[in-house]
Amino acid sequence: MSISDGSKGSDTVAERLAGVHRRIADAAEYANRDTSDIHLIAISKKQPLVALESALEYGQRDFGENYLQDALPKIRNLAQCGATGASPVWHFVGDIQSNKTADIAANFDWVHAIDRAKIARRLSNQRPPTAKPLQVCIQVNLERSPNKSGIPPDDCAELAAEISELPGLKLRGLMTLPEPQDDFLAQRQPFAELARLQGELNAAGYALDVLSMGMSADLEAAVAEGATHLRIGTAVFGPRPD
Ligand SMILES: *Cc1c(COP(=O)(O)O)cnc(C)c1O
Repeated sequence: MSISDGSKGSDTVAERLAGVHRRIADAAEYANRDTSDIHLIAISKKQPLVALESALEYGQRDFGENYLQDALPKIRNLAQCGATGASPVWHFVGDIQSNKTADIAANFDWVHAIDRAKIARRLSNQRPPTAKPLQVCIQVNLERSPNKSGIPPDDCAELAAEISELPGLKLRGLMTLPEPQDDFLAQRQPFAELARLQGELNAAGYALDVLSMGMSADLEAAVAEGATHLRIGTAVFGPRPD
């Protein structure tokens, strides 16, 4: 047995993934929900390809990135090991600039942070006609803070109406990225608000089935308020290298 194999105290991706699945299962039980309604997106931004490969090996399928240039080589590389029958699903979770929409439309399956009709139109026009529509969420800025991305809750209905007309996109739901909070009840509050907004839009005739909310530090609060898609980075991969 090696006396210094370098792995002491640093969990593997497999162990971390198992830990996250346990947290999700516990949170689901607390909230009386079915774990099959809760999807784990492993946020792999800044992580090296090997980390994604081990997650894929241990059954993780959904990956989220928010830097296009870092993501494209990973997408190409993992597509090549798709021979195992395990091809990843790619989620773009970052802010989107106009000059990035073509590559995003061509390489991703989901986009979580749409907050402008102009970006939505570009993504729709640039979605390859042979691909199924890009699955999208509207990012909501619940704090209405001017220096945060996302649109204020009051503008959601209008943007939802515009996106629904676009053939290259399929509007699935809402996403939010609240300010970090330590207290469980405080963490739940913005997630509850997003769920309420989803309910209002659905009452107005939409069929939104996705709430993209919850990260490493607040996934339990998100599950308690109905999250369907958790975006988990550090709890799956460990700290992000710089
Ligand atoms: C980085 C990031 C996450 C994951 O954050 P962790 O705290 O590492 O779990 C989730 N969503 C978005 C939009 C991110 O940029």
